[in-house]
Amino acid sequence: MSDMRQLYQEVILDHNRKPRNWGAIADANRHAEGHNPLCGDHIKLSMNVLNDKIDAIAFEGHGCAICKASSSMMTSAVKGKTVREAEMMVEEFRGMTTGTLNPETRENHLGRLKVFAGVKDLPSRVKCAILPWHTLHAALTSVVSVSTEGEADPIPGSEIGGQ
Ligand code: ZN
Repeated sequence: MSDMRQLYQEVILDHNRKPRNWGAIADANRHAEGHNPLCGDHIKLSMNVLNDKIDAIAFEGHGCAICKASSSMMTSAVKGKTVREAEMMVEEFRGMTTGTLNPETRENHLGRLKVFAGVKDLPSRVKCAILPWHTLHAALTSVVSVSTEGEADPIPGSEIGGQ
């Protein structure tokens, strides 16, 4: 077993057992729900964006270990980030898990999230890992509900650097 593979399993198990930022933000000003019918993952994301920064973020719902671990790591990673930085990470995570961004050769902000690089070789798991990121994108752009049904990658185009 490679080091990366082992790290991946340890991180998934740890975050699945003790998800970070679990629950709901009472006075949230952004929220969204994400569904992955293929696996049965269903998460609710709530957050408070203050002065263009993600001041508070939490998630709840039910999902497989990969979805829960990815949600847990996503919330930890974007807390305190600006909306723009968070959207950039959505793009990078998408790129990494769909194989268009190699995190070892291209500069990125993924940090520990790189343990998810391996899911690109597990097509049925990509949606589980990417669901919290789609949901984050939906919450940031005020779409209330997203589903990974149908389209492999429901986010249309890149909005990074566009405006
Ligand atoms: Zn799943």
